Amino acid sequence: MLETNTLGGAPVLIAGGGIGGMAMALTLHQIGVPCVVYEAVPDLQPLGVGINLQPNAVRELYDLGLDAPVLDRIGIQAREWALVGRNGREIYAEPRGLAAGYRWPQYSVHRGELQMLLYRTVLERLGPDAVRLGHRVTGYHQRDGGVTALIETRAGQRLEVQGALLVAADGLHSAVRAQMHPQQPPIHWGGAIMWRGTTPGVPIRSGASFVGLGSLKHRVVCYPISKPDPATGLATINWIAEITVDNSQGWTQGRTEGNWNRRVDIDEFIGHFEGWDYGWIDVPAMLRGARQVFEYPMIDRDPVPSWVDGRVALLGDAAHVMYPVGSNGASQAIVDARVLGAALQVEGVGPAALRRYDDKLCADISALVLRNRGAGPFGLLGLVDERCGGVFDDIDQVIPAAEREAFMARYKAAAGFAIETLNAAPPTVRV
Ligand SMILES: Cc1cc2nc3c(=O)[nH]c(=O)nc-3n(C[C@H](O)[C@H](O)[C@H](O)COP(=O)(O)OP(=O)(O)OC[C@H]3O[C@@H](n4cnc5c(N)ncnc54)[C@H](O)[C@@H]3O)c2cc1C
Repeated sequence: MLETNTLGGAPVLIAGGGIGGMAMALTLHQIGVPCVVYEAVPDLQPLGVGINLQPNAVRELYDLGLDAPVLDRIGIQAREWALVGRNGREIYAEPRGLAAGYRWPQYSVHRGELQMLLYRTVLERLGPDAVRLGHRVTGYHQRDGGVTALIETRAGQRLEVQGALLVAADGLHSAVRAQMHPQQPPIHWGGAIMWRGTTPGVPIRSGASFVGLGSLKHRVVCYPISKPDPATGLATINWIAEITVDNSQGWTQGRTEGNWNRRVDIDEFIGHFEGWDYGWIDVPAMLRGARQVFEYPMIDRDPVPSWVDGRVALLGDAAHVMYPVGSNGASQAIVDARVLGAALQVEGVGPAALRRYDDKLCADISALVLRNRGAGPFGLLGLVDERCGGVFDDIDQVIPAAEREAFMARYKAAAGFAIETLNAAPPTVRV
């Protein structure tokens, strides 16, 4: 049984009820550590569009009892990942999830549906008081061997809540990170702008394929996040249309503030993709079919040397917001929660567990943040651009198959998706 040295039973405080915060709450409940989630918004809504959960994160969800019958209700098991050139010819394709030999599938899901699933599960397992909505964590102080979270409610009340630990899963604009690292530079933007939406459509290729089409700086990604409707044959297709512009002038008209919910009109950007009709995919029609489109700059933050300050730890995007090129933002937030849970099992509920978590993840995941700046797995498109300007008849003449495979294997190893390593690893949290 877990040895806890919580302060007179003081709970672990979690700032943020996103995917990372909810995964942390479920993990703490599983290992018998009391906790409370403080979430800034007054009402959680299923916001966002599609994301991918890699097998390393799906494994952790299964270990939390959220297995295939549950996840199949909010997404689909991905079968393929493919890159296609602007000329419509295939550059690279590989199986994903179970089809690739992982013991766990990869899921393509709606981000908001996943968050709501985790939220409902937290309420069912921990009770209705475990999540306090409308409570924004604004900072913390540490004394007398404990931590105090400073909280502001929607009604304007200021609270000071004592806990054994504070886990800050408060996302990209983390207030806790800002206090922990007051010298951190502003958000970093490399010039890429993404437009995101979902459109009803017939799934292409394997029926559950992630397809990246175009060049490194001008591309479209699409994949289904639902099964086709039996009556119409149409599934929900998630898409991201992206261009990279000159960022030498710095931030442009609020674009880089990092608001996931900024709506834009399709006519503002469709011109970049006119003529992208290949028969097997009609990109302009897909983009026009979306009821709403969100613009989001591809931003991240420079890594910090540590995610921990005494009894306070950063987790998820608060620790390592990264370019969403490797489908690992949400996956890594879930894995963080599990690694932290495992550290608490070994060290008890105190600063030593947080140091153990920091030692295990901070350096490696910070390196992944920087690696994703270099385009992550989409770097293959960059190689094609460099070697032939994106124009080729036979991709083997441009990048031999062995080189393409070696490139992807390096990325997967760095991101923790290496098949044999993951399949052979013991469960992260002992139950
Ligand atoms: C509304 C929204 C929509 C998103 N849509 C997409 C998407 O379409 N595609 C994609 O790839 N990624 C999206 N993301 C980001 C993605 O969810 C994360 O990269 C990933 O899941 C890691 O999750 P996280 O829990 O660390 O952070 P987040 O998912 O950002 O969750 C952070 C949570 O903390 C809350 N919060 C923020 N500040 C405070 C505070 N001071 N005190 C208390 N609570 C606070 C936020 O309201 C939020 O619920 C979205 C994030 C949000 C918040």
